[in-house]
Amino acid sequence: MATLSRRPTRQVRIGQVLVGGDAPVVVQSMTNTDTVDITATVKQVQALADAGSELVRLTVNTVEAAAAVPRIRERLDALGYRVPLIGDFHFNGHKLLTQVPECAQALAKLRINPGNIGRGSKRDEQFATLIEIACRYDKPVRIGVNWGSLDPSIVARMMDENARLAQPENADVVMRRAMVASALESAHKAEELGLGGDKIILSCKMSRVQDLIAVYRELASQCDYPLHLGLTEAGMGSKGIVASTAALAVLLQEGIGDTIRISLTPEPGGERTKEVTVGQEILQSLGLRAFTPQVTACPGCGRTTSTVFQELARDIETYLRTQMPIWRSQYPGVETMQVAVMGCVVNGPGESKHANIGISLPGTGEVPVAPVYVDGEKTVTLKGERIAAEFQSIVEDYVRSRYGARP
Ligand code: SF4
Repeated sequence: MATLSRRPTRQVRIGQVLVGGDAPVVVQSMTNTDTVDITATVKQVQALADAGSELVRLTVNTVEAAAAVPRIRERLDALGYRVPLIGDFHFNGHKLLTQVPECAQALAKLRINPGNIGRGSKRDEQFATLIEIACRYDKPVRIGVNWGSLDPSIVARMMDENARLAQPENADVVMRRAMVASALESAHKAEELGLGGDKIILSCKMSRVQDLIAVYRELASQCDYPLHLGLTEAGMGSKGIVASTAALAVLLQEGIGDTIRISLTPEPGGERTKEVTVGQEILQSLGLRAFTPQVTACPGCGRTTSTVFQELARDIETYLRTQMPIWRSQYPGVETMQVAVMGCVVNGPGESKHANIGISLPGTGEVPVAPVYVDGEKTVTLKGERIAAEFQSIVEDYVRSRYGARP
């Protein structure tokens, strides 16, 4: 794994999961079911946890949703899913948690947004109620500032201060500063109200990559709370993935970020679990964590005129990912395995030798054989119709012998 040095932070415990300090960067996600629909929500939490989400956040927006949370927790426990649940509160969290204390008990963390807690004196009162509940039930809190709901009183104050300067900054710079100020002022207020410094996580989510990088650099330089990273409203498909990766990779490379969420808009009918997979892939690509064996595949070119090579790369990748829920416990270390699926003789043998196990398929006009390399040595040459099935069985044997329990 990478030797990137992480920014030193306090460590926060969320259920059985540690965030910050020397803990690995944690991947989290959020459901998009109606929390009141207990069956659908439990099912989605299970899917997210199976995909590798280490924390799952739920919307808690009504008394009914708050009442559903302990029942969701119970069902998950009965099914053997211990994944900590986080409650996402806006506007009425103080009321819901007061009216349904079992909700606070069942949650492992509360997420509150300082911009959506109330206005004027109500804001302070309602913020104090939330923090008092967190203290009473010994729950950590994420103070999650969001660009779309930044506290207008902070913006107004900072804009006024800026206007009085001899050389005022532009509005974007002031807004970024207001994001950081909102998070830090709320965190300090929470500590004054009795919440431990080891119970606070901060986030300042923005929807533009450069804004996000600038804000987190500033936040990281001003505090040692663990930071939750995410590009908010990242968008759909490749745009959401690329924008999230661009922003998070820069920050993670600088050692900033203790937990991440990828806020992808699912395609209609698409899998919610995609956001978990993308989060894992970002961390694994940076060498920060390993979750699933990686497939190195070339892009193909004029030397690969059939689809055999793409199909094999796709099938092996799908196979490895679907095996992981079982392999994770049976074959410790398998998540670091490298598999190469290459399209022709140009780079195929070389790349295959660098992987734990690799196959170099025949390009157009080459002899129709596919040499297989295991730990750098050519072991067999496959040919004919069953290359894919035979290669998969070679991978299975390798996993069993390399990562299985030694007698
Ligand atoms: S390995 Fe061969 S098929 Fe793949 S991109 Fe390179 S030249 Fe093309």
